[in-house]
Amino acid sequence: MHSQERTLFIFSDMETPTVAHVLKIIEGLAPTEAALPEDPVGLQCGDPDGPAGKVMVALDANGMTIKQALAASAGLLVTHHPLLFESLGPRNMRTPIGDAFTMAVRGGLAVYSAHTNLDASPHGINAALADVVDLREREILAPTGPDSFKVVIFAPKTSLGPIRKAVFQAGGGRIGPYSECSFAVAGEGTFLGDETARPAVGSPGRRESVSEIRLEVLAREGTLAGLLEAVRKVHPYETPVMDVFPLKGKAPGVGIGITGLLPSARTVGEITLLVKKALRLKAARVVGRPGRKVSRVAVCGGSGGSLLQAAWSSGAQLYISGDIKFHEARSAEEHNLSILDVGHFAPERFGMVRFGEKIHQQCIENGWTMKILYAAEKDPFTVMI
Ligand SMILES: [Zn+2]
Repeated sequence: MHSQERTLFIFSDMETPTVAHVLKIIEGLAPTEAALPEDPVGLQCGDPDGPAGKVMVALDANGMTIKQALAASAGLLVTHHPLLFESLGPRNMRTPIGDAFTMAVRGGLAVYSAHTNLDASPHGINAALADVVDLREREILAPTGPDSFKVVIFAPKTSLGPIRKAVFQAGGGRIGPYSECSFAVAGEGTFLGDETARPAVGSPGRRESVSEIRLEVLAREGTLAGLLEAVRKVHPYETPVMDVFPLKGKAPGVGIGITGLLPSARTVGEITLLVKKALRLKAARVVGRPGRKVSRVAVCGGSGGSLLQAAWSSGAQLYISGDIKFHEARSAEEHNLSILDVGHFAPERFGMVRFGEKIHQQCIENGWTMKILYAAEKDPFTVMI
């Protein structure tokens, strides 16, 4: 029911979108709740109510890309790596990142970073890499996002409207890019209050039977307490019955890294050539025999060493990632996992260009004729052959 393939926000009769309007599109494609804890995704600086103007897309938020965005008179710079990985104190404003931050603020440029939430998005970095090798039957390698709970509320039928409203306003019922998701079914509730009871329906000491609804809704860790409190405020019963079930695992279908099947078995060497061509790479590092035929492949753009175990546990024979260290490569060998290391820059830059195209497509569907520009960026590493 909840296809994540397409999310479109329509803003009618608006020709000059603000930064906030473009961010709504971005966060529809890559919801921030999927980001890893401590990852400072979101607006790094700038006025959300300012005009978005031209939008520049880049992998890194640094002096080089901010300078380019300002030179192009862009109103918004969208990056993968956050500008503010570390908090900026008065002492470190005179660092390269401090300078970049100051430059953006003085120039009136909004900077927004979609990092691990974009890794987890079906429109993101890993999905772009999985598309290169045409992975089928995709599954997530490492689920992310906060823990989820199913909240079940019993209430008289007549209270369904106000309770639903309270639940949604408190942040319940969000699934990926969808909000206000709930399920209700009618039934019969019974109760018998003792002489101290003050029942909203019936009287103490009398067995009552009431037409009730059972309302089910999803809540996240951070919103659960507020949601229960909001329901208590509008629920007519003296002691509302609310069951909270912790759900096993994280939000379904949201996470970092993808494992899947190739359309047909291919050798590691063939896949290497294919990926090198798509990512315009001069060289790539391979662990394992290039002639090995593989059919299950895992991918994770950027630094993928931490997901090695998830990759071999998924049954993958080949892991396409970057920044793999020596001991990680040895460990992969021991688990018969081949590795194609394409570096950090190429797959993430590739994924950001694809993400920029998705943003552009949705802007066009909203009737905005704004320009999406791509910053000129280079891999800091040069391959010497
Ligand atoms: Zn990265």
